[in-house]
Amino acid sequence: MENTSLLRQLPAMDELLRHPEVAELIASHSRGMVRYAARKVMDRLREELLRGDRSQVDLPTILSYLRQELRPRLRRVINATGVVLHTNLGRALLSARAREAVLQAMTHYTNLEFNLLSGKRGERYSLVEELLCLLAGAEAAMVVNNNAAAVLLALNTLAAGREVVVSRGQLIEIGGSFRIPDVMRQSGATLVEVGTTNKTHRRDYREAITERTALILHVHMSNYRIVGFTSEVPVPELVALAREHALPVMSDLGSGSLVDFSRFGFPYEPTVQETVAAGVDVVTFSGDKLLGGPQAGIVVGKRDYVERMKRNPLNRALRIDKMTLAALEATLQEYLEEEEALERIPTLRMLLCSLEELRTRAERVAHELEGLEGIEVRLAEGFSQVGGGALPTAQLPTWLVEVRLASWGESALLKALRRADPPVVARAEKGWVLLDPRTLAEEDFPWLVNAFRQAVGGEL
Ligand SMILES: *Cc1c(COP(=O)(O)O)cnc(C)c1O
Repeated sequence: MENTSLLRQLPAMDELLRHPEVAELIASHSRGMVRYAARKVMDRLREELLRGDRSQVDLPTILSYLRQELRPRLRRVINATGVVLHTNLGRALLSARAREAVLQAMTHYTNLEFNLLSGKRGERYSLVEELLCLLAGAEAAMVVNNNAAAVLLALNTLAAGREVVVSRGQLIEIGGSFRIPDVMRQSGATLVEVGTTNKTHRRDYREAITERTALILHVHMSNYRIVGFTSEVPVPELVALAREHALPVMSDLGSGSLVDFSRFGFPYEPTVQETVAAGVDVVTFSGDKLLGGPQAGIVVGKRDYVERMKRNPLNRALRIDKMTLAALEATLQEYLEEEEALERIPTLRMLLCSLEELRTRAERVAHELEGLEGIEVRLAEGFSQVGGGALPTAQLPTWLVEVRLASWGESALLKALRRADPPVVARAEKGWVLLDPRTLAEEDFPWLVNAFRQAVGGEL
């Protein structure tokens, strides 16, 4: 048969939309979505027929294509990587209180910029400023869209047209093309690098300070470390030096944490509170890294500088939205009692999950997978990662479920798992797919097992 005559198998659009199973899809999605998806499915099938990739079209195929097409593009995935703050998988998960707050803010009108006492226009930051000041021990606070925006706004406000002194070892690039020299250029400030890659001394800063200097900037090295013959000037010394020259100091903490994780055996990192207490004038950090809240850029510090940042016209382009504010306020409230934060904020809970609990969960996952045909499952000790450039040298011991399927290569199996619904994202090593229970929720287990069942059954 000519390829073109094969096209007669394709149903007419109206006929397809009247089919009972398609009508069900219309009821659960919308006519517009189903019609749009059906048009794409028909185009795809037409092409496959013309190319000779297919000779038959039946209703189950059309329905399966339709269902795939109707899935949202932003989808839930199962994170089996053990990377807690996985930037590509959406970083922090919100606490129950934060989720509820978002729902309220998006469903109803709010006092986002309305002062309920005076009945006049209010300031959106005022909703979280008090909490942030309390938790960070700071005079003033504000919030923008993300930490990259906070750094840009701070540099532009404090140093446009003037010079900013930074240690060469802190001129970092983090993922997503955020590079300190580029942000500096965009802000209108001029970068003055001091020191060498591995060593920067107090005198290097001192020699670089001139009448053109506006700011001394300290940047957390995030996802990299210089080890061996190294030295950086500690933040308190930078503050002392800046005071001698009547200059402000800014610290971009990157992840920034309100909790001192060293008491749980993690490498020590100065907290937000400690950085403020050291006298740093402007401190910036992310909302969705170790804080465990929504994407946001948080600024805490001296009132004068923060007020100037609020008034900067650039701020309007970087402002935070109401859903984010709602989630942030609720997340910060959890920190009023640290022990509650550790229990209720998913990021913190995952980071502090005990090895014993991880082993129990790994055993449960392994037990369920063992029932599948042709599957090899074993438990092994391994390491999870914090991710998000936070605590980069932290070693988080975990128990991994290692899985191998007869005659499957590791990359074929990873690919099949990504095609499951919801998709499963995992890592692999030496022919084994590794599942880390640290980032798996209880409710993920059945989906995970189902993904393997489908892979074994050749359905993916
Ligand atoms: C992550 C990070 C940023 C960017 O923060 P976002 O919230 O992702 O915009 C900036 N600076 C440092 C040091 C970081 O680690």
